[in-house]
Amino acid sequence: MNLADRLSHQVRAIPRSGIRDFFELVIGRDDVISLGVGEPDFATPWHIREAAIYSLEKGRTSYTSNLGLETLRKGISRYVRQRFHVDYDPKGEVLVTVGVSEALDIAFRALLNPGDEVLYHEPCYVSYNPSVALAYGKAIAVPTRVEDKFALRVEALEQAVTPRTRVLMLNFPTNPTGAIQPTDELEKIARFALKHDLIVITDEIYSELVYLEGYEHVSIASLPGMRERTLLLHGFSKAFAMTGFRLGYACAPQPLIEAMMKIHQYGILCAPITSQVAAIEALENGAPAVERMRQSYSQRRNLLLKGFAEMGLPCFEPGGAFYAFPEIRSLGMTSKQFALGLLEAKSVAAVPGDAFGACGEGFLRCCYATDINLLRTALERIAEYVDEIRKAGS
Ligand code: PLP
Repeated sequence: MNLADRLSHQVRAIPRSGIRDFFELVIGRDDVISLGVGEPDFATPWHIREAAIYSLEKGRTSYTSNLGLETLRKGISRYVRQRFHVDYDPKGEVLVTVGVSEALDIAFRALLNPGDEVLYHEPCYVSYNPSVALAYGKAIAVPTRVEDKFALRVEALEQAVTPRTRVLMLNFPTNPTGAIQPTDELEKIARFALKHDLIVITDEIYSELVYLEGYEHVSIASLPGMRERTLLLHGFSKAFAMTGFRLGYACAPQPLIEAMMKIHQYGILCAPITSQVAAIEALENGAPAVERMRQSYSQRRNLLLKGFAEMGLPCFEPGGAFYAFPEIRSLGMTSKQFALGLLEAKSVAAVPGDAFGACGEGFLRCCYATDINLLRTALERIAEYVDEIRKAGS
């Protein structure tokens, strides 16, 4: 029997993540400076780890309600009200999930019928397209351009929308570009969603990590008429440096949360209680640590932007997240050639831009959630490599 032939068509059709393929090359190489994985280099703040430790010490090792601990759901509801100015009832409009990853998966499964179309902006997080495909939907990429600071233009959405479009997937600040969406552009997108009667999923995972002076992040869920058609996803991985706790949440009107809860209940049952207790502490007392980490990322962002400018590599100024997305097109190489060459010649790992969609070609994603001294060395090595390519070409 050929086992490969027995796998579902859906699973066979999706590729492995380009990030993972690339990072298998790095495994076991201690000399490599990695700007690759999108993960904070900070350990989770101590008071949050302590809350997790005490909960284990007290023997809190049971299942919780499928929706998640009530105290946590109340905390999430409060946090979302303060941060995004939208009200969700902790009793039926908040679901605690295993990261934003699980929330995305069950959201698409709850919302899509076979062939339903989902619009999403590219370059984007690697999970959106395959998660839609696994839910039997059709993911339609809407390109964004460096000339527009990678903001999503409503004109591009109008070109892509069809009578089968059901969902619009948004992520600002964006992985991998760090783009933010100016509020007037976000308002146009809200009007577009209303006009075409779309459900909007907004992935807010980087919303605390913004760096522009005077800029305040706005969620589309808070715009007029949008709460009833928006699913707001958020989690603890990035701003609170809690990737390993695997904790996220979904907020939406009750019928959608109820549908997602049914899938969650059979597939997962509940998120781990230790992580839920840690998340309660994070929401109650985590703000100063988040701010300290944000300031540190801001310094590193500035260092990287200065470094790329000195090398003569154009780099769009990211408004948020912890990624820089320099353009390497002028060097006459593809993103993959550049990233592989940089790894081989200088032991610096960064992700080729096309891992995030075709329009990421010509760019490189550099995650700056890395020690600032390592970032300095990485910049020196990238500068040497760029120099060598230019000399070889002249
Ligand atoms: N959404 C975006 C945009 C991400 O960049 C990531 C992780 O890199 C996730 C979701 C996954 O987050 P979680 O750890 O909460 O599953």
